[in-house]
Amino acid sequence: MNSIPSTIPKRPRWRSLALLALLLAPLLWPLHYVAERYYRTELTEQNRQTLDLYVANLLGTLRRYEVLPPILGDLPGLRTVLATPGDETAQAAANQLLKRVRQQTGADVIYLMNPKGETLAASNWDQQDTFVRGNFAFRPYFQEALAGRLGRFFGLGTTSGKRGYYFASAVYDGDQKIGVMVIKVDLDHTESLWGNTPEQLLVTDGNGVVILTSRPDWRFHASRPLDKAERASIAAIQPYPTQAPPPLQLDPEVWLTQSRVLDETGWSVSILAPRVVLDRSVRTVVAIGGGALLVLILLLGLLMQRRRHYLDRIALSTRARQELEQRVQERTQDLERLNSRLKEEVLEREQAQQELVQAQDELVQASKLTALGTMSASISHELNQPLAAIRSYAENAGVLLDHQRTEDARGNLKLISQLTERMASIIAHLRAFARRDRHAPESVALQPAIDDALALLAKRRRAMDVELIRDLPDATLWVQAGETRLRQVLSNLLANALDALGERPQPRRIWISTELRGDQLELHLRDNGPGFSESALAHAREPFFTTKTSAQGLGLGLAICDTLMRALGGELLFANHPQGGAHLILRLRTAENGVNIQPPEDITV
Ligand code: ADP
Repeated sequence: MNSIPSTIPKRPRWRSLALLALLLAPLLWPLHYVAERYYRTELTEQNRQTLDLYVANLLGTLRRYEVLPPILGDLPGLRTVLATPGDETAQAAANQLLKRVRQQTGADVIYLMNPKGETLAASNWDQQDTFVRGNFAFRPYFQEALAGRLGRFFGLGTTSGKRGYYFASAVYDGDQKIGVMVIKVDLDHTESLWGNTPEQLLVTDGNGVVILTSRPDWRFHASRPLDKAERASIAAIQPYPTQAPPPLQLDPEVWLTQSRVLDETGWSVSILAPRVVLDRSVRTVVAIGGGALLVLILLLGLLMQRRRHYLDRIALSTRARQELEQRVQERTQDLERLNSRLKEEVLEREQAQQELVQAQDELVQASKLTALGTMSASISHELNQPLAAIRSYAENAGVLLDHQRTEDARGNLKLISQLTERMASIIAHLRAFARRDRHAPESVALQPAIDDALALLAKRRRAMDVELIRDLPDATLWVQAGETRLRQVLSNLLANALDALGERPQPRRIWISTELRGDQLELHLRDNGPGFSESALAHAREPFFTTKTSAQGLGLGLAICDTLMRALGGELLFANHPQGGAHLILRLRTAENGVNIQPPEDITV
């Protein structure tokens, strides 16, 4: 099969897909933007809630203590201490009282100062770092309280060093301020409330200095530059462990900050979310988007490829079908041409066959005539012999009669009669041979036909000293044949055998035998001559095939025999005998017993 040339140009598919991917890649930017907005909003909302919670908690803590100083200031046990500064019993009672209150309220320290700022009683009276006798007049909350306001202050305890938020209010005796009641709230726990999250807490005071934070390294750092007044105030009131808080550098690229200002304290509470949390989520979304895009492009590529394969296949099968159709058409035309040529040839053959049949017919007749010619010479020879004998027997008989030897003369006459019988037989064969026989097959006795054929060639056989080995049954065998035709065939085959034996030294033999096979009878003729040559085996049936010289043979014998046999419904087979020599078989159909009489005209014609 011819290979079908591909006419579809190959397009660079993957290059166009890559181009498509490049074109679609900018789509990731909006995705990035949307994802960032979404996650930022989410984070902001979440942080806002956390911040609200924290602020509520912080404010709750502060407000719980805010009201305590004025209330405590009204307690008689404390007022007594203020009224009688040297009364140690009163002082001890006040200390005990404050300690109890502290335990009940959860405050860090509660203490009472006289208007000079000296601490007269404190809840931590029994501790090493007790405030008792300490002077905190420098603290702003003291001054605020003395001014009649609620003092508020954040700072590091000068004694304890602990951070705390201070509420202070004046203790009144009538209109007169006789002391200041202070409560210090521990804020450390509000810091530890913050969980271990990526978000960080930052509480700055009015100076912008970090006072509470989830990151210990940020503590007491200034989130903004401090001015001179602020620095001076810090130096004066010492709210931090350091006089000059170092700056806090927060990279806005790293932190997303949300703040809330607490008006009551002047503080700012901030929650700082690391941008990386946001970026990570956004990156994941963009990566998923990119992956989806890639899968989409690959699917598209796959789809394109399949479509192309499908188109290729269709084109290929279309071309194959067209080629097939064309070839079928060509083949049909060839066949038509061949057919018409065959028709012509058949016609020619038929014509030739007719001519051949005609020629064969004529040749049969011609060969009969030729054989007749040949035979007439041998017949005249055969006839001359008995004629000469008859003549001498007759002359002899006359002489014998003259001498009254009638018995001897009778013997001679008997011999003369026998000789005439033989002559009549020879003439009958001659007629039988020359007759054109077109009759339908009839019952013919086989043995007499063989005898006749042998008789025709008897002289030659004797001359060549050929031994005849007959193996024929005594009972007459009847076959379907034509009397004359059968004899003609037999004498032809025997003549060929004699021809073949002529090339051979003694002993020369001819075997004649029969074999009955069902409704067929086989007559076997075998000689011990050289046998058929290879070409004779292949072509001997053909007219004019001969291996003999033109004087010896016409090459018509077997052709005529074959034709005659077939006309009789029989068959002529020939081969070489395994022990050498030719072996011919005449296959004839057996027949009903008939009458073996020579028609009278056979002799006359
Ligand atoms: P012709 O005898 O005139 O050649 P035939 O048709 O009778 O024609 O025989 C054809 C050929 O077949 C012969 O030339 C011969 O070669 C071969 N042939 C026939 N009979 C015999 C035989 N008995 N032995 C060997 N060859 C034979």
